[in-house]
Amino acid sequence: MRAEISIKNTKSKFLDKVEELSEQNIYACYQCGKCSAGCPSISEMDISPSEIIRLVQLGGEEEVLNSKTIWVCASCFTCVTRCPKGVDVAKIMEALRQITLRKNVDYVNPLSIPRETLSQVPQIALVSALRKFSG
Ligand code: SF4
Ligand code: SF4
Repeated sequence: MRAEISIKNTKSKFLDKVEELSEQNIYACYQCGKCSAGCPSISEMDISPSEIIRLVQLGGEEEVLNSKTIWVCASCFTCVTRCPKGVDVAKIMEALRQITLRKNVDYVNPLSIPRETLSQVPQIALVSALRKFSG
């Protein structure tokens, strides 16, 4: 069942898990939007980085874990250098990916990659991608 996004859902188990894995204080974010404004991958995201943080604050587990954003994040750390509150958004994105992968849900199934693609993609790119996208 879809969790209600509400101020009543603050302090959810989901939020606790994200804080534990990322070692970040989610409530430190005051929604200035500087992370989103500087993110080089934002054109490919369906939810901006600052909106992701807000959704985590409000218990929007389903929206966050089903978003493209957490997988599109390139871990470039631009947001980390821009955040006036010292929130490491890249670590939070990694925590969100880990929550999904630890449920044994791969974002990319290695067996679904066509042989032709496998023969063309540089091996190092393939290994890095599968480290990020599969558990
Ligand atoms: S680490 Fe991710 S969210 Fe942050 S600026 Fe880079 S791509 Fe965007
Ligand atoms: S830059 Fe920091 S404080 Fe501002 S919205 Fe992003 S995470 Fe929140």
